[in-house]
Amino acid sequence: LPCDLHAPDRKTAQGLEFGDRKSVTVLLRRIGETRSALQSARGHKRTPRTGDVLLVSSPIDGTIIGEVNEAQRDLLPDILRVAKEGFRVWSRTPVRERAACLDRCAARLVAEAPEILCLLQKEAGKTLEDAVGEWREAIDFCRYYAAEARHHLSDGVFMPGPTGEQNQLRKLGRGVFVCISPWNFPLSIFLGQVAAALVAGNSVLAKPAEQTPLIAAKIVALLHDCGVPASVLHVLQGDGKIGEALVALPDIAGVAFTGSSAVASHINRALAAKQGPIACLIAETGGINAMIVDATAQLEQVCDDVLTSAFRSAGQRCSSLRLLCLQEEIADDALSLIRGGVEELSVDDPLDLGTDIGPIIDASAHRTLTDHIEMMRREKRLLCHGKVSAGAPKAGFYLAPHIIELKRAEDLDREVFGPILHVVRYKNEDLSKLLDELEDKGYGLTMGIHSRINATIEQICARRLAGNVYINRNMIGAVVGTQPFGGFGLSGTGPKAGGPSYLDRFCVETIVTTNM
Ligand code: GLU
Repeated sequence: LPCDLHAPDRKTAQGLEFGDRKSVTVLLRRIGETRSALQSARGHKRTPRTGDVLLVSSPIDGTIIGEVNEAQRDLLPDILRVAKEGFRVWSRTPVRERAACLDRCAARLVAEAPEILCLLQKEAGKTLEDAVGEWREAIDFCRYYAAEARHHLSDGVFMPGPTGEQNQLRKLGRGVFVCISPWNFPLSIFLGQVAAALVAGNSVLAKPAEQTPLIAAKIVALLHDCGVPASVLHVLQGDGKIGEALVALPDIAGVAFTGSSAVASHINRALAAKQGPIACLIAETGGINAMIVDATAQLEQVCDDVLTSAFRSAGQRCSSLRLLCLQEEIADDALSLIRGGVEELSVDDPLDLGTDIGPIIDASAHRTLTDHIEMMRREKRLLCHGKVSAGAPKAGFYLAPHIIELKRAEDLDREVFGPILHVVRYKNEDLSKLLDELEDKGYGLTMGIHSRINATIEQICARRLAGNVYINRNMIGAVVGTQPFGGFGLSGTGPKAGGPSYLDRFCVETIVTTNM
C-alpha cells in the first residue's frame, strides 16, 4: 500500500510504516471515521460570514464539502499593514524559534494524518497513494527548510578580510511575501512556499487555489497553533482576481508562484509595473516534458515508467510526461505494451483503493482536455484510450487516459495538463535534430531518458533541456532534499524547491564590516 513509487525503500518521513498491514488498517479506519465526521459536521458549524462565501465542491462527485469566506479586496491594504508590522517582530525572532514552528507543524501533520489525507482526497480528488505521497512531501518540506534555516541563516558567514577587519554576511527576511499556489498539490506546494518564506523571516499573504481552499485554511490554522503569529501569516481565499490584487499591492517584497507559465509572465509584468520597492518573483510553472527511449531500452520497464509518468495523478502534475519520443525500431513493440497497460488502468472514484486515475479537478479543465482529444480525433491522430469505470460517480469529472500520435515533436506546442500522452517516433541519426526541437519549445522542467548507451545519455544530458532529468526510471515525484525540483525558461525562474538554494531567494543579504 501507499509508499512513494519513486522511493520504495524509504520509510515515510515520520517513521510510520505503511507496509505494515496493521497500521494500514488502523489508518484507513481513522480516515473513514474522519470522513463521516466531516460530513455530519456540515451544516452545523458555519464560519462567520464577512464577505462572499465560496462553496467548495469535491471533484469526486460534485458534492459540497465545505465553504470559506472570500477575501475582501478593499481590506487588503489593511492586511498588508498588519503583515508589515508583524514582519518587524518576526524578522528579529531567532531563526531557531522560527524553525521550531515548522518542526511543530511537521509533528502536527503526522498526528493529524487521517483528517489531512481525507481532505486531500475529497477536495483535490486524490487517490490515497497520491494523498500519502503529498502529505509526506509536506512533512519533508517543513523539516528540510527548518534544518536549512538553522544551518545557513542563524549565524551568518564570516568572509575573509584583512587583519583588524571582520566581514559578516547575514541573511534576513525580505518583508511581506505573497505566496500563490496551485490546486494540484494543495498541501505540499502551499506549505512548501509558506514554510520557506516564514522560516527566512518574512510575513506571508497566502493565496491558495480557489479549487482547494479547505486544506489551505487547515494548514494556516495549524501554523498559527504552532507559534506563527496571526499578524505574520494571512490566508486570502478567492480566485485569480484576489491574486492579481495582492500582486499589485505597493509594498510587497516578493511573490512565490506555482502555476501556469502564462500567469507567471502576467505576474512578472505586473511586478515590473507596480510602484514601491522592486519585488522578486519565484515562479515554478509547467513543461512539455519529454521522455526519450532508444532501441537499447528495457521495454517492460519503459512501459511501467511511461504509465506512471504520464497517468499517475491523472497527469495533473507539472512534472508529468507529455511527449514520448520512441526510436523507430522499438516504437511498435513499446506502444503495444503501453496500450495494454492503458487498457488496464482503472479510472474511478479515488476513495476506492483499486483506482489508478481519479477525477480531473473541475469542469473547465475537463472541457479543455476533451476539446483537445476531439481535435486530435478529427485529425485522426488518436492511437488508443482507456475507459472510465461504469460505476464512477456521474457528477465527477472523470477522463480516460488517451494516447495521441504526432508526426513531429514540433506539433505539440503547449502543455496539456491531464491524462493525455503524445507520442512521436524518431530515427537514431535524427536524435540531435529531435533535441533541437525539444529545446526550441523553450520549456525546461522534467525529462526522462531510457537507454543503456552512456554516450547517448551524455549527449542528451549535455543539452539545456530540463531542470530534473530522470534516467531509466519514471520522471515524477521529486524527493525533498534529494532531487530539488524546478526548471528554467518557460518552466520557471528557479530556485529549486526542496533544494539548498531555495531559502536564499526569500532573503536579502547584508554584509556587516567591523573595524576591530
Ligand atoms: N514535485 C512534483 C513532482 O516531482 C511536481 C510538482 C508540480 O506538479 O508542480 O512530481
